[in-house]
Amino acid sequence: MDNREQHLNIAIDGPAGAGKSTIARAIAETLGIRYLDTGAMYRAMALHAERCGVDPGDAAGMARIVNGADIAVRYDGSGAQHVLLSGEDVTGLLRSGSLSMGASMVGLHPPVRQKLAELQRQVGREYDVVMDGRDITTNVLPDTPYKFYMTASVQERAKRRYGELMQRGGTDKTLEQIEREIAARDKNDMERAYMPLRIAEDAVVVDTTGMDIAAVTERMLCLIHEKAQR
Ligand code: C5P
Repeated sequence: MDNREQHLNIAIDGPAGAGKSTIARAIAETLGIRYLDTGAMYRAMALHAERCGVDPGDAAGMARIVNGADIAVRYDGSGAQHVLLSGEDVTGLLRSGSLSMGASMVGLHPPVRQKLAELQRQVGREYDVVMDGRDITTNVLPDTPYKFYMTASVQERAKRRYGELMQRGGTDKTLEQIEREIAARDKNDMERAYMPLRIAEDAVVVDTTGMDIAAVTERMLCLIHEKAQR
């Protein structure tokens, strides 16, 4: 699918818990290409803010520290993504709940989005890649023909997140709390002034409510092959 001049870039946007990362990883594995979890880069930026003592919602503070954020993405021999912050591999620290909201807050600020979008475009120029996030189809890779918007009802997304946390050793939060947190992140993502999460005009919408991982992966692979034949 690589036309030699340009790498295959598959862009997936959608709200938290829609299944993007699981599906993107499965697609990347099937096609033998890279997967870029751009959320991890926003989480690393939130960790940078925490380490600098800056509130992730503070626009002026973030503008001050954004250039000093040395964030890089590397792939190991098995193709797994690692995020480096000032050379330190912080991948294992990034999934915490406080960094989820922190990532959502740092993502409100244009200088942060501009810096991370450029790093993401570099990965797209260098590799065949499946990238998931919130502005990949609309801002990072607007020229790729492979654009998808993956979604599911907020109740189903909360149930999935709750199930994930329970599997990883449990959570103090109730399902209702998780649903409220997801709704708050949706609001930040969809209503921010700069590069909000929205459905690109030429994106294919895939609603994963009631579908399992295998069914969504199959659907996506069919859609990708269909587009490749055009
Ligand atoms: O995808 P993940 O849940 O790891 O993303 C954490 C937060 O980072 C999201 O809620 C979103 O606000 C922000 N984000 C973003 N743009 C991206 C990826 C993530 O604004 N491309």
